[in-house]
Amino acid sequence: MELTNETYENLRLVPIQTGPMANNCYIVADTEKKECVVIDASFDFEQATRKIDAEGWRWIGFWATHAHYDHIYGAKYTKTDGRDIPIALHPDDEPIRIGEGGARMGQSRGVRCPEPAIRLQDGMTLWVGSYRFTVLHTPGHSPGSVCYYCAAAGWLFSGDTVFYHDHGRTDLYGGSQSTIEKSINTKILTLPDETLIFPGHESFTSVGAERPFFGQYF
Ligand SMILES: [Zn+2]
Ligand SMILES: [Zn+2]
Repeated sequence: MELTNETYENLRLVPIQTGPMANNCYIVADTEKKECVVIDASFDFEQATRKIDAEGWRWIGFWATHAHYDHIYGAKYTKTDGRDIPIALHPDDEPIRIGEGGARMGQSRGVRCPEPAIRLQDGMTLWVGSYRFTVLHTPGHSPGSVCYYCAAAGWLFSGDTVFYHDHGRTDLYGGSQSTIEKSINTKILTLPDETLIFPGHESFTSVGAERPFFGQYF
């Protein structure tokens, strides 16, 4: 599936793909309430702040799917130009955040993500305007990896847990193949087939498209 703008009622998704690893940053806005969040902040992040300013949306949160440097690269912009945007991150990824986004222990990438104001837990509810999102804790790629799920829209932001016909690597700090398989089986493949998956890298997919793909392995 190509990267395109998606809408559901007043909910609008603006994907921004940047960098050599085709990282996806997502602006999710309630266009009636004129407020938005950003899911993952990668390279060339000023594209996102320019878009938010141009639309006149209030930026109410930065939600990280996990703390690897390519997903928090732009997190510093939550605190620049007079902003104080709350950051949401699962506490199990704190060692990676404090290690400045390093994927291996002791391998700092020098990418500073300010301290999270929202400590995510599995099942927690977050809002974008009138739209409810549920936090799904999906460890395996990293210990604190999460997905953000909007049941009304049928949208899942999967970070590096699920990609188009692939899942995230499990050989980095805190990664585990059996844990990611359990996360995908119990948290993602249990969602309706029509759920659109917006991953942390590359193309969009859906639960229905991935169910047979993962089914052949686990
Ligand atoms: Zn990652
Ligand atoms: Zn990544």
